[in-house]
Amino acid sequence: MGIPFEKIPTPSYVVDEDLLRKNLERLQYVEQKAGCHILLAQKAFSMYSTFPLIAKYLSGVTSSSLFEARLGYEEMGKEVHIYAPAYKEEEFEEIMTYCDHIVFNSLQQWGRYKEKVANNVKKIGCGLRINPEYSEITTDLYNPCFPGSRFGEKSSQLSREALEGLEGLHFHTLCEQNADALIHTLERVEEKFGKYLYDMKWLNMGGGHHITREDYEVEALIKVIQHIKKKYDLEIYLEPGEAVALNTGYLVATVLDTFENDKLLGILDASAACHMPDVLEMPYRPFIIGSGKEGEYPYTYRLGGATCLAGDVIGDYSFKKPLQPGDKLVFCDMAHYTMVKNNTFNGVNLPSILLYSEETGFRLIKEFAYEDFKSRL
Ligand SMILES: *Cc1c(COP(=O)(O)O)cnc(C)c1O
Repeated sequence: MGIPFEKIPTPSYVVDEDLLRKNLERLQYVEQKAGCHILLAQKAFSMYSTFPLIAKYLSGVTSSSLFEARLGYEEMGKEVHIYAPAYKEEEFEEIMTYCDHIVFNSLQQWGRYKEKVANNVKKIGCGLRINPEYSEITTDLYNPCFPGSRFGEKSSQLSREALEGLEGLHFHTLCEQNADALIHTLERVEEKFGKYLYDMKWLNMGGGHHITREDYEVEALIKVIQHIKKKYDLEIYLEPGEAVALNTGYLVATVLDTFENDKLLGILDASAACHMPDVLEMPYRPFIIGSGKEGEYPYTYRLGGATCLAGDVIGDYSFKKPLQPGDKLVFCDMAHYTMVKNNTFNGVNLPSILLYSEETGFRLIKEFAYEDFKSRL
């Protein structure tokens, strides 16, 4: 591990710019070879100090809200797309000033806003989210196709007349998946929506493509994009979030105390509930550098945060030596879905945000204080 984590205050998120660039190079390879457009889904990663770097490789951003659209517009300055389950009347004018593409979740939403879009000076491409009723995601929390899902229109609701004026279709049904899941999904999309695709200008295949994961089948992805693009004469968009920042960040924490209650316990200045909420929501167990599974090394600890939530438990980890107050622990893969989701529950401060590269060392991007906690309440 080359990064000298001992030197920084904790808790801190550290994003490694060199690793981020490596991910971006892989994504750009897909863009160029497949002839598609890749957008950063800001929902996963909105650390805008990296947007100038990301802008060198990707086509722009996608957004889930007015604020994300504005951030992408101001900080990246390339294509801005948006999809939200519903838009607010009082925000729509401003959304139009930032966005190149607007994707509607329902035909009713499209009906409500189509006049506004038509009368807008700047031309905006509009699309509809479709629900292919097919997903290989097994956790309902992340499955946009479970029965009764609020995401997208099913093919039974559509007709040529209903789609009049729309120039694109959008689906998002993947989560941390390989190209095979996309290929299966596209079979359903073609079956159910293929007849409409010939009239469209673009197809947005959403996020959830784990393109930067080591075992991801990039060539299979490129092949299926080229096939769809050619068959229906479409522009293709992908909007991964996680894949942009996958394995590029860390959360560095300090051990505050250890004690025993049936098990050895370690209390950290980083919290699952406040600083890595997906550990509890997903749930999953993040890797700590130098640690083993429960029982793998002599000293197993149950690690948790310094909040009053009984379930603020990160997981069970073993170490070669006993933990001591002051020891630093480095959690891996902490760039995405962390800074964008964290909170100050219990008045616990937010981690600082740092950028690191081998050439420049650490750069402090942001630090938080009492005022950040108070100002939201
Ligand atoms: C969440 C989301 C994304 C990004 O998903 P990742 O799993 O982070 O790649 C893209 N598009 C839409 C519509 C989303 O809801």
